[in-house]
Amino acid sequence: MQVTPNGHEPIISPRLVIDADGKTNLLGLDREELKTVIAEIGVPEKQVRMRANQVWSWVYHHGVTSFDDMSNVSKDVRTKLAEHFVIKRPEIVEAQYSNDGTRKYLIRFADGNEAEAVYIPEEDRGTLCVSSQVGCTLNCKFCHTGTMRLVRNLTAGEIVAQMMIARDDLDEWKNPTAGRRVTNIVMMGMGEPLYNFDNVKKALEIIMDDQGIQLSRRRITLSTSGVVPHMERCGTEIGVNLAVSLHAVRDDVRSEIMPINKKYSLDQVLTACANYPGAHNARRITFEYAMLKGVNDSDADARELVRLIRKYKLPAKVNLIPFNPWPGTVYECSDWDQIQRFSDIVYEGGISAPIRTPRGRDIMAACGQLKSASEKKSKAQLAREADAAVPAPVHVEESDSALGWVTG
Ligand code: SAH
Ligand code: SF4
Repeated sequence: MQVTPNGHEPIISPRLVIDADGKTNLLGLDREELKTVIAEIGVPEKQVRMRANQVWSWVYHHGVTSFDDMSNVSKDVRTKLAEHFVIKRPEIVEAQYSNDGTRKYLIRFADGNEAEAVYIPEEDRGTLCVSSQVGCTLNCKFCHTGTMRLVRNLTAGEIVAQMMIARDDLDEWKNPTAGRRVTNIVMMGMGEPLYNFDNVKKALEIIMDDQGIQLSRRRITLSTSGVVPHMERCGTEIGVNLAVSLHAVRDDVRSEIMPINKKYSLDQVLTACANYPGAHNARRITFEYAMLKGVNDSDADARELVRLIRKYKLPAKVNLIPFNPWPGTVYECSDWDQIQRFSDIVYEGGISAPIRTPRGRDIMAACGQLKSASEKKSKAQLAREADAAVPAPVHVEESDSALGWVTG
């Protein structure tokens, strides 16, 4: 069990690799783990490496779900594999297609918990917005996900599975590299990815592997609310692009709308950005800034944003996100004229500040609208489930989903 650095709730990281019929799910195993489990079922030692490479390629490059389809693997090894393993996606409870082409998947994992992933097609790319947790511990006031109490971290397999599910739905396995529709990934779904660092890292390494899905690290962006101690690790250990949810330029305002700011102040966050490995002008850090009427959207705020970016010498761009409303929120989206003025001031300061067109609002798939109906369970119940090899199904209420998105 992992406790969040802000000391809120314990976060459970279950090992959900065992299927209900006692078979290990290969989805989410890294190369070393795959070799180990293949050796354990009695494949001769000399063959283990080759078989693991073959299986890896079938699972992650071709997207197969049946061992029968692994045509270059001998029949007896295929039989052995099928006796012990499955290659299984979690269930898609609901796939909603927006009239702007956005697709939202509500995914139910083996223990009954749910999270959402959103596919956003654009002219020059297709971005998949991936969740890292069921819920979020951080309770940012403007975010729908923040109203959920955290249920648990997602496993690496559950994170990778969101990519597999989108590729299944978009029918892109036939032509896995040239025919890509998911060209980019943003870790901007439900949850704080840096509070689930190990699983996120493992999942992204699987997704980037050059004999598997082969997505370049340059096409992956991880968004954090500013978990300072892990920001540098994100750069050195994973090497993906960084986005930071800034949303305010003064500590009092930021602490009010993002309680994590009381732990890691603006100065600490911006210093960590200045030190982010691999950030330079060709590969800038993205600041996400939700436009909240009367809260963070004045001309003075825009000027202060420019001053801060210059002061810390940040290779940065700003994504202005019109606030996406959700049931029960006290915030309103800034007036259009004001968003435009804000953007102009930042541009005049020499910093790119495009206004993001909300996508998928009709299916509650826009930034900050995601929420699944998974309930928080007692700590004792969670601990029991994490320890148990076979996950217990839990009661899940009817879904009330909604996510939010921005790309770099
Ligand atoms: N937890 C991470 C990843 C979520 S990314 C993070 O906070 O960075 C989702 C982005 O949408 C974040 O920048 C988040 O602050 C923003 N967001 C949340 N609620 C929103 C809303 N209602 N309208 C617009 N953007 C929102
Ligand atoms: Fe969590 Fe990010 Fe939403 Fe804040 S904005 S509550 S950190 S998902």
